[in-house]
Amino acid sequence: MPSTKEINRQQSPPPANDPSAIHFRAIAIDMHADTVQRVLDEKVDLEERLNDGHFDAVRAKEGGLDAQFFSIWVEPQLFGGGGPRAVKRADDQIAAVKNLAQQHPETWQFATTAADVRRAAADGKIAALLGLEGGYAIDERLENVERYYKMGVRYMSPAWSVSTTWAGSSGDDVGASRGLNDFGKTVVGEMNRLGMMVDVSHVSDKTFWDIMNTSTKPVVATHSACRAIADVPRNLTDDMIRALAKTGGVVNVIFYPEHIEPGWSGRKKSLDAEIAPLVQHASEDEPGDAVHKKLARDRVRQQQYALHLPKVLVSRIVDHIDHIVKLVGVDYVGIGSDFDGVQATTSDLATVADLPNLTRELLKRGYSESDIDKILGGNMLRVMEAQEASPASSK
Ligand SMILES: [Zn+2]
Repeated sequence: MPSTKEINRQQSPPPANDPSAIHFRAIAIDMHADTVQRVLDEKVDLEERLNDGHFDAVRAKEGGLDAQFFSIWVEPQLFGGGGPRAVKRADDQIAAVKNLAQQHPETWQFATTAADVRRAAADGKIAALLGLEGGYAIDERLENVERYYKMGVRYMSPAWSVSTTWAGSSGDDVGASRGLNDFGKTVVGEMNRLGMMVDVSHVSDKTFWDIMNTSTKPVVATHSACRAIADVPRNLTDDMIRALAKTGGVVNVIFYPEHIEPGWSGRKKSLDAEIAPLVQHASEDEPGDAVHKKLARDRVRQQQYALHLPKVLVSRIVDHIDHIVKLVGVDYVGIGSDFDGVQATTSDLATVADLPNLTRELLKRGYSESDIDKILGGNMLRVMEAQEASPASSK
């Protein structure tokens, strides 16, 4: 006897343009989330539905996510902008991602290629991939680029919010005049040779243009948005978006209100000044180590932002997608949530479980299923395949 579910399916198949059906048919790839730091520092179990944060396997499946690039982020103030502690911090995060797949092969598949992602999606698993955020862990040694490639890392941003000696950041003063030096250009060449994507999220404008003039492979922004809408240095100008698209790369739109909502960043700065004593107290009251003190500070920020800063909706994320599509077409845009790396999210895409709301909004704006397939992951699969076209073994 057919089950009730089967009868329902026979009687009322979902219409071809059903948002949920379109969403779950697509291969969805999120280019950036910081969740693995929670696994290390807070010992969270991603097999369970967590009641805080933005990501776990249960909510990822609800959200129809097929692949997650985990950010291997070394916070330079806590672990150094290079040196053995920075290397160890990166290595520990990589081990934690691999451990997910070893401990729970029914949920996760460790992945390094587009084919791996397609296989994981077909098998109903979540592909777990690695991206290095900030080049601190290569410790200014070229051979470490290949070391991380061999460990499975498939993208790297030369700098996070603190400039390296070889690449300027958009987040500090020195970055304003610093691009790639000769070593930085050699690093980009090595990444091209290996097939490791160059990520321009967080780099200074000068570094961005040096990368454009150096890289021979498609370049990506894993979690950035448009300066034309939200004027913050972390975002890309229209000229930058055009140049990046010319490499065949993809701008993956970040979901963080500070980078997508006009004016939000300024209001956040004022609020940060007001709540500084609260944040400081939380840090002092936390008995744990420096990492736990940072977590305590971030918790206060999260509460205060939710109370005092304007609500932002998923439609604003789609404004940025629209802007990029109008500039360069639908082949050069993707998604990079920055989940678990930010202290605020949009209200209706608050965790990975809400990802279908993005597809719903795209449909509302007139995007076709094939457009949506590209935006959710198809464009990034194309870039990954282009990187893989000349693997390191062909040197
Ligand atoms: Zn970031």
